[in-house]
Amino acid sequence: MSTYIVLLGPPGVGKGTQAKTLAEQTGLVHVSSGDLFRENFKNQTELGKLAKSYMDKGELVPDDVTVAMIKDRLARPDCKAGAILDGFPRTPAQAEALHKMLAGFKGDVDLVPFINADPKVLIERICGRWTCKANGHIYHEKFNPPKVAGKCDIDGSELYQREDDKVETVTNRIKVYIEQTSPLIDYYRAQNKLVEIDGTQPIEKVTGALLSVTRKVAR
Ligand code: AMP
Repeated sequence: MSTYIVLLGPPGVGKGTQAKTLAEQTGLVHVSSGDLFRENFKNQTELGKLAKSYMDKGELVPDDVTVAMIKDRLARPDCKAGAILDGFPRTPAQAEALHKMLAGFKGDVDLVPFINADPKVLIERICGRWTCKANGHIYHEKFNPPKVAGKCDIDGSELYQREDDKVETVTNRIKVYIEQTSPLIDYYRAQNKLVEIDGTQPIEKVTGALLSVTRKVAR
């Protein structure tokens, strides 16, 4: 049996950072739709170029291409034991598509940790965020600074500010989250899969809470 965990939460609540730690601790693969789009853009694929035009405005990439990309990723052998999904699904239609897709792999979403915080207070968090060029490790100039400014602690690569972490885009990403993604909270709550975690706690506390809920389902 494979284990599929969907991390839910507003932009900037720390899903990416937490998903990386969870993946290390559980052995499940971290599948981030945003990272996959950025990787595609880095490689100048048609999908990457299309996605970038939406990402730069803080809009969602259309469901059909997003779903196809995730399906392809989850079908790869390293996802045999399951995955931690970060940034997908982001709309009810994507959630339905995920359910159908996982049925094809004889699985389903097992758990949905929802890292909650008021999206409006997250603007400061996102706008201070720096990402490592080589592997996407994430820092924050105030809350989680690297040891050496501008350099990743883990792999030494250069840190940059994502185009979509700039203030105008962030404001729109939050609006899109409220309108299109937040209905998933009730969707997964109705399926008894949602576990709410206070995202305003220190990073390590959020990690601890996440590990304790995921250990119950990750085999
Ligand atoms: P993230 O790294 O998860 O914050 O995603 C960055 C951007 O990629 C988003 O603002 C969207 O433009 C796009 N994106 C990521 N995941 C999805 C998704 N599941 N559906 C549509 N667009 C997405």
